[in-house]
Amino acid sequence: MDIAIVGAGPVGGTLALAIADADLSVVAFDTRERGATLRGDRSLAISHGARLIFDRLGIFPRLAAIPGAVTAIDSVDISQAGGFGVTTLRAAEAGVPALGYVVSYRALQSAIDAELARTQTQVRFASTVTRVSGMPMHALVTTSEGDAVEAKLAVVADGTGTAVDGVTRERRDYGQVALIAKITTEAPHAGAAYERFTPSGPVALLPEHGEYGLVWTMSPSAAQRALELPDAEFLNELHQHFGKRRNDFLGVRERKTFPLALEFARPIAASHCVLIGNAAQSLHPIAGQGFNLGLRDAFELAQAIKRAPSETIGDRAMLARYAAGRSLDRYAGIAFTHGLARLFALDAAIFRWPRGLGLALLDALPPAKRAFTRTMLFGLT
Ligand SMILES: Cc1cc2nc3c(=O)[nH]c(=O)nc-3n(C[C@H](O)[C@H](O)[C@H](O)COP(=O)(O)OP(=O)(O)OC[C@H]3O[C@@H](n4cnc5c(N)ncnc54)[C@H](O)[C@@H]3O)c2cc1C
Repeated sequence: MDIAIVGAGPVGGTLALAIADADLSVVAFDTRERGATLRGDRSLAISHGARLIFDRLGIFPRLAAIPGAVTAIDSVDISQAGGFGVTTLRAAEAGVPALGYVVSYRALQSAIDAELARTQTQVRFASTVTRVSGMPMHALVTTSEGDAVEAKLAVVADGTGTAVDGVTRERRDYGQVALIAKITTEAPHAGAAYERFTPSGPVALLPEHGEYGLVWTMSPSAAQRALELPDAEFLNELHQHFGKRRNDFLGVRERKTFPLALEFARPIAASHCVLIGNAAQSLHPIAGQGFNLGLRDAFELAQAIKRAPSETIGDRAMLARYAAGRSLDRYAGIAFTHGLARLFALDAAIFRWPRGLGLALLDALPPAKRAFTRTMLFGLT
């Protein structure tokens, strides 16, 4: 086997599609049953750059044809509570049809599965990989049924990267949780997203079909309280934190929380193995960068695989080149998200002032704003 992909989720599935036209033998393993989705309730914010990748692979037209599966983000309003400075990023100013899109994870997974079914790639559903070991000449991928598959390159895209020999994961707990929920508003969203920095943590509202997806970062105790509040009180608190930026909240449903941590694999490549997507790094959701970074991992790895002469696939030099090529985008994504999470977690007035100045300057200086928007859309490549 040339390539074994562990996890045919959004990132592993994208890689499989991106190499499907190469003359390679490829197998992908996924714990999911055929037709099932791991995170049916999740929505993903994808950048314009990610859309371009999905366009090339034929996934975006499939997605766009599913009613309600894709919502375009036309503007992002960034502000902070209790401090001055507001900036609005607009698609027209960035010269793109939309700044990004909110996509249903379930619809994305089914579009990827459907496209993959049209290729020669073998997808083994209901098959869990328990171990990935790098050998001198190949990788060995072992499943819970006891099958062992040899491949020139094992690509781990299982979202956690736990089963790889020789790779450790670093974890920084933010001591905060994200509260997520669906919010209805009186006025339609008109494609407007909001990112607001409040004393309890950043709050994002992402337009999603006919409502908003809320991601609100707070301490675990505040989140427990917010989960238990009656709907009207919850919406009132959201309004208090949101100030004048948005004040027409009508309803809330599906409140839940998850802990926030930064996790990254070190190194991302070992003998004949490489990690991509959330298996390589999972980021704080503050800037919606995690999935976009993972997609760029998949796309760049596909190019590296297709460029490599067959006998060099998965060898040390090929993986070192790939890892070096991803290093700036990856560490910038980690540092940018981590820095933003830390910067906006500090609420002393002394920090609020420079933050406000930063936001105001961003709004006043078109080249800086364009550079910021570009980074959000395409990463630092
Ligand atoms: C609550 C929450 C909200 C988020 N919201 C956003 C957002 O708005 N925007 C954004 O960009 N990102 C968001 N993220 C991050 C986003 O979910 C991930 O970036 C994305 O899911 C990563 O895709 P992936 O394919 O790497 O991993 P996953 O989505 O985790 O997929 C992994 C796949 O591997 C399979 N698998 C797992 N283990 C094995 C195994 N041992 N053997 C075989 N198969 C296996 C699974 O069945 C699955 O199909 C969010 C994350 C969380 C936790």
